[in-house]
Amino acid sequence: MNHFQSTPNDMLVTLHRRYDSYTPTEGPERPAANGKSSQRGANASMLVTNHVLAGAAIGAVLHRRPAFAFAAGVASHLAMDCLPHWGLPRVPESHDRFLEVAKRDGLAGLAGIALLTGPAAGIRSGVLAGIAGATLLDVDKPARHFLDRNPVPAPIQEFHERIQREAPHRMRHEMLIAAGLLALSGFLVARGRRIAV
Ligand SMILES: [Zn+2]
Repeated sequence: MNHFQSTPNDMLVTLHRRYDSYTPTEGPERPAANGKSSQRGANASMLVTNHVLAGAAIGAVLHRRPAFAFAAGVASHLAMDCLPHWGLPRVPESHDRFLEVAKRDGLAGLAGIALLTGPAAGIRSGVLAGIAGATLLDVDKPARHFLDRNPVPAPIQEFHERIQREAPHRMRHEMLIAAGLLALSGFLVARGRRIAV
């Protein structure tokens, strides 16, 4: 038995978080109706689309070493989460807005994967490895939403949540980063493919 799995996710709600310019008010705990997580879905971090695009760029550069691309992808996720980005305070009122953004973000991320791995003949495994590493830490969000479980060990989850620098007014900022990363990853995939053939 893994004792981490028995740690209620609710405990994570109370962790100290680094909000740059937004101080969340302490909201009442959402009623844990069936004893399951009370913060399902209300766990914001940088858009997963941006992690996908950064992972693809890394994978295109390191396509000959997929394991290294994977590790570099994980490092990119942590580095990007430490930079200022969009996020919502962890209060029950954020839940609906978070879910709305998360759905669009998930679809955009999937579109990004299709767009960048489709034409990545010869370097696809490296690109996929980079994307897998870059998105690994965000597996908690779909897992909590769809399965009501978080497979991420508690200490890693805690660390991941502590490093966030988020504020709710930074969506434009995220969009600009997405545009830049899309151009960069598209260029690097095209270049990597030329080198690979
Ligand atoms: Zn993250």
